[in-house]
Amino acid sequence: MSKKERGKKRKKMGKGSRSCIRCGTHRGIIRSYGLYMCRRCFRETAEKIGFKKYS
Ligand SMILES: [Zn+2]
Repeated sequence: MSKKERGKKRKKMGKGSRSCIRCGTHRGIIRSYGLYMCRRCFRETAEKIGFKKYS
């Protein structure tokens, strides 16, 4: 029973596990506004699409 599952690259399309649509990370996903992006990608995209939340 090891909690180390990081090294493996599994491509599992599981339900419930959402990932960033841009970079594919699972950390800091923002589901608000209908976006499924992590915070980093959100910031970049936000500027493009005109979000002015983090300015
Ligand atoms: Zn991302």
